[in-house]
Amino acid sequence: MNPSFLTAQTPTTIAIVGGGFSGSLVATHLLKTASQPLTIKLIERSHQMGKGIAYSTNTNCHLLNVSAGNMSAFARDPGHLLRWLQYNRNELASFFPEEVNASSFIPRKVYGLYIQSILAEAEATAPSDVRLERLTDEVVGVQPEGKGAIVSLRSGLCFAADKVVLALGNSPSAPPAIKNADSNNESYLRNAWSADALADLDLDAPVLLIGTGLTMVDMVLSLHDRQHRGKIYAISRRGLFPQKHQAAKPYPSFLTPETSPKSVRGWLHRLRAEVEVAAAQGYDWRSVIDSLRPITQKIWQKLPTEEQQRFLRHLTPYWDVHRHRIAPKVADVVTEMLDSGQLNISAGRIREYQALPDGVAVTVCQRKTHANTVLHVHRVVNCTGVAADYRRSPHPLIADLRSQGLIRPNAIGLGLDADAHGALYTADSNVSTLLYTLGTPRKGDLWETIAVPELRVQAQELSQALLQSLPVRVRPIPTMLLNKETGDGGSQIPQSSLLFRQLFDPETSSYTYLIADRQTGDAVLVDPVLEQVDRDLQSLDELGLKLRYCLETHLHADHITGAGKLRQQTGCQVIVPQNPAVTKADRSLVGGEIIDVGSVAIEAIFTPGHSASHIAYLVNKTHLLTGDALFIRGCGRTDFQGGDPGTLYDVVTQSLFTLPDDTLVYPAHDYKGRTVSTIGEEKRFNPRFSDSYGALRERSRSQFITIMNNLKLSYPQKMNATVPANEYCGDFIPQDSLNPAMSLATDEEKKQIEITVMTNTEIYNDYFAMYI
Ligand SMILES: Cc1cc2nc3c(=O)[nH]c(=O)nc-3n(C[C@H](O)[C@H](O)[C@H](O)COP(=O)(O)OP(=O)(O)OC[C@H]3O[C@@H](n4cnc5c(N)ncnc54)[C@H](O)[C@@H]3O)c2cc1C
Repeated sequence: MNPSFLTAQTPTTIAIVGGGFSGSLVATHLLKTASQPLTIKLIERSHQMGKGIAYSTNTNCHLLNVSAGNMSAFARDPGHLLRWLQYNRNELASFFPEEVNASSFIPRKVYGLYIQSILAEAEATAPSDVRLERLTDEVVGVQPEGKGAIVSLRSGLCFAADKVVLALGNSPSAPPAIKNADSNNESYLRNAWSADALADLDLDAPVLLIGTGLTMVDMVLSLHDRQHRGKIYAISRRGLFPQKHQAAKPYPSFLTPETSPKSVRGWLHRLRAEVEVAAAQGYDWRSVIDSLRPITQKIWQKLPTEEQQRFLRHLTPYWDVHRHRIAPKVADVVTEMLDSGQLNISAGRIREYQALPDGVAVTVCQRKTHANTVLHVHRVVNCTGVAADYRRSPHPLIADLRSQGLIRPNAIGLGLDADAHGALYTADSNVSTLLYTLGTPRKGDLWETIAVPELRVQAQELSQALLQSLPVRVRPIPTMLLNKETGDGGSQIPQSSLLFRQLFDPETSSYTYLIADRQTGDAVLVDPVLEQVDRDLQSLDELGLKLRYCLETHLHADHITGAGKLRQQTGCQVIVPQNPAVTKADRSLVGGEIIDVGSVAIEAIFTPGHSASHIAYLVNKTHLLTGDALFIRGCGRTDFQGGDPGTLYDVVTQSLFTLPDDTLVYPAHDYKGRTVSTIGEEKRFNPRFSDSYGALRERSRSQFITIMNNLKLSYPQKMNATVPANEYCGDFIPQDSLNPAMSLATDEEKKQIEITVMTNTEIYNDYFAMYI
């Protein structure tokens, strides 16, 4: 090994071992949030980068075990997967023709494509000095060197890394050790996760599956899919197999980690009693199990080690079949095959294998009767699931790290010991500053750590911890930026990395907001105006910013958005509030989602009322872009595009007015030259919401509705052109849509448009005529 390639110029490098869901998501978050030059090396030993074991299946019949509504890769953006599925509906139609919603169980293969596309998108939009390198190879060793390490690959290559993440996921467990058995005899014994598990198997051949959990279900589905006719035996010590998912109303949480019994026996009694109480109130047992999910990790951590071991010995199979359930469609196939007698699931132990010319004779000792049965099968498939005991793991990398004392396998045989952020403990109990992990290797610490809802949180937190642990090597702030900010030649360094600019379009009195992270140079424009695109591009250029997104607060009726043109010129993404009428957006948002722009967090707050689909944006919790929901001393009209005064009153008073009083309010328009206000000011002085100047006497909802219903405003003059154009994000404006007769407006709206056009009313004069 020759580490001479370690030069002073080598950029910070994070090596991620394993390119399944966990490794890919850590890489994605690093690409999205790194604020200093960084090389990410993602090393995957299979050719399926981004998929891992779970999602590299090639068949459509293997469905997710979790419904699509809970499988977003981003905890802070729960609707992400559903939006991706909708957006790619046509391309994905051959995988699943039926409509998708939050309760659908989509093919795992499609989920693999989702992870790959997330990674590709993060790579494409990362700053140029934050780079992803994908290596198809196996990491076989990590040798500490200075403050980092040399990572060795099976191919013989090696490279230097500052940090190493072990995203090793799930290794198949070995089949149960049987006396006299040749566990390597591939003539009949195969692993369920290998590509050749069912290769060359005669359709009438009898098969034995060892294990009756989720992997067995996968194998049964594969056999069913290839129209296997032979008998299928599945055997495990207890013969339990996964229960099916069923829609059930959520059950309120009934335990806290503090009140949870500290013994397995006590815990089981408590759970059973609660299921009975719940059943008496019409709840399904599934709801009781699911209500434990948010605190399962803490309950596990409060159990003494002996109790954890007791749980592993006695309860794991029962927990697994109730907690890790299967999609209803999958359960139907299993039931049908059980009913037909083709599938036989039983409890017992394998005693002996006797190789035969066409397969093997397997002697099974039945659990209850202890009677021996001999099964003649052509293939035995190991479906015993995941191996998590790192004390004995034959994994070459783990063996290497173990021998160097760089890791500490968990004492009860479940993964590796790590701190709360995933930094691994060394054999002499120090917290490593080199090695980190997430997912299955943290099972001993967390128990509930193998599924996406937990992994996505760990991936985000780990990437944050990694970036924070790196030596500070931020990009220099452009001198001209310092000059502009301080006006004193740059002696003072700005405190925050948030860059915030308010830009004005005099013709429509519209504000566009430019928001950026000064350090990464990533920027967004909110509500750009078509006629001002050149100005906006110039600002971006002068400030050295890269436009990542254009955000809209709503579908504007008074101007055409500049988003489409900006997308054409910069390659940015256009993001709009969820609205079926908008066809050309890259993404749509629902309330609660967060857009990260470097270190700047922009939270979407659903604020319908001015129009049915409207979002306000809260930037870094300090700057609120209110769109047309709230103006300085006013608010947007509510009489078209699905507007509703009662709804607007509710969102302003119950959502926006609950933000801290010093939150800065930046509206989408101002007709009197005002630029900024605060929530506190608007609560006191906005005449639409307060009926006594400065004394904070809230107007009632009905007063507000009366005011809004009596504004008698004429329709926006340009609405017949702007609304259809904005439905295309201003990307291209079909001539037809400019013709009022062909526009997408309703008949009622078209009539109003005609009247407006005929009378040529100047909208802005009377917009505030009823300024109460
Ligand atoms: C069959 C199956 C179905 C599942 N279905 C669901 C589901 O529907 N919903 C859900 O939430 N969870 C499901 N899971 C749980 C699953 O653990 C997670 O969803 C997730 O896929 C785990 O990702 P991971 O990256 O941690 O692990 P893995 O997917 O196992 O990925 C680890 C990767 O690391 C690679 N690797 C290991 N060692 C090295 C090395 N030394 N060098 C290079 N590469 C290496 C492996 O090749 C592998 O690709 C399922 C799991 C399985 C096994």
